Amino acid sequence: MLQNLSYWEKKNLFHADVIIIGSGIVGLNAAITIKSINPKTSVLVLERGFLPSGASTKNAGFACFGSISELIEQEKLTGTDGLHQLISKRWKGLLKLRDLLGDECISFQNNGGFELFKPEQGDLSNECVAKLSHFNALIEDIVLQKNTYSLTNPKINSFGFKGINVLIENNLEAQIDPGMMMKALLAKALALGVQVYTNCKVEEIVQENNSVLIKTSQGDFKCKKVLLATNAFVNELLPDVAVFPGRGQVIITKPIPNLKIKGTFHYNKGYYYFRNIDDRILLGGGRNLDFKAEETTEFGETELVQKALINLLEEVILPETDFEIEQKWSGIMAFGSQLAPIIEEVKPNVFCAVRCNGMGIAIGSQTGQEAGEMVSSSL
Ligand SMILES: Cc1cc2nc3c(=O)[nH]c(=O)nc-3n(C[C@H](O)[C@H](O)[C@H](O)COP(=O)(O)OP(=O)(O)OC[C@H]3O[C@@H](n4cnc5c(N)ncnc54)[C@H](O)[C@@H]3O)c2cc1C
Repeated sequence: MLQNLSYWEKKNLFHADVIIIGSGIVGLNAAITIKSINPKTSVLVLERGFLPSGASTKNAGFACFGSISELIEQEKLTGTDGLHQLISKRWKGLLKLRDLLGDECISFQNNGGFELFKPEQGDLSNECVAKLSHFNALIEDIVLQKNTYSLTNPKINSFGFKGINVLIENNLEAQIDPGMMMKALLAKALALGVQVYTNCKVEEIVQENNSVLIKTSQGDFKCKKVLLATNAFVNELLPDVAVFPGRGQVIITKPIPNLKIKGTFHYNKGYYYFRNIDDRILLGGGRNLDFKAEETTEFGETELVQKALINLLEEVILPETDFEIEQKWSGIMAFGSQLAPIIEEVKPNVFCAVRCNGMGIAIGSQTGQEAGEMVSSSL
């Protein structure tokens, strides 16, 4: 097919001022930002999949900004001031996403977020409970309310959990529908005049004098600036960017009559997460069972993780309820030794915005916006 390109196609459809690689939450937000700053800038997004094929449409839809056990770990890495900044970015990122797309368009529902602990995790739960007032005070000026986190043990029985003795609630945590979010982002980008080509895998980036040649599975493109928003896959094109992949496996049940569980739930330092959606339970995680095997950009499932997910459903989440699994899938996240995303000009005219780890809903819009502003100001 490539040889059959017309003069018109080659002349008009294979170049843009800015090419963005990757149509996930970061890529589309960057495209929207660039077009909003200057509508005359031509912006083309190239996506290798038929749909976005990374994390943005595969995730669990938690609009979260940190459960207590995560915050304890993160405070060790960043210090208290650093953590304050991080939570502030996540919170503002969520507000920005809601403002950009509207709560209805992303099915935003504030049903609360909860962290569960088993009796054998007594040390961890004691530490988390002891830190409630510390983190409540730390985030008060960000979320503009007191006592966001609280101990809420009486809800353990109303949710029907078994083998759980401590439950901490975050009354500002919410859930969204990531498919609706991506649909709305795409509609916004297209309305602003962004072009998006799918089934177009970028294979090589070649710097030329004052321009960049983008070699793809569909032919060669040219642009002034290129932004890689390819997240966990960035090393295929830029091997030196400090990112490692982490696969997340997810399962979802068939609808369960009279489901008692409502909200977003974190277990085992966030390595497991589950929520209600359409009378079902969506559950993911288990990467910690074999970090090496899950440090991959390959989609797929493993018996080890799938068994652990089913066990958690049977023993803790739905102990008295019959359920059937309807569907399973996986997505790929990008991690690094630091929590902040990488937003930079890697080499002349070549930018990247990657590594939103497991918090892309909270920080993806902001990351895309910052990258878009950086690219725009370089034009
Ligand atoms: C299972 C799972 C659950 C998660 N749950 C949550 C959650 O509840 N809350 C939360 O905040 N975050 C969650 N995350 C994280 C969140 O989804 C990510 O941080 C976010 O989606 C990253 O967005 P992105 O645009 O950077 O990357 P991606 O969405 O991965 O987008 C990158 C895109 O680049 C494309 N691409 C890659 N290489 C090329 C190439 N060579 N040419 C063309 N295109 C290319 C890919 O196909 C992909 O579409 C979860 C992630 C996973 C996997």
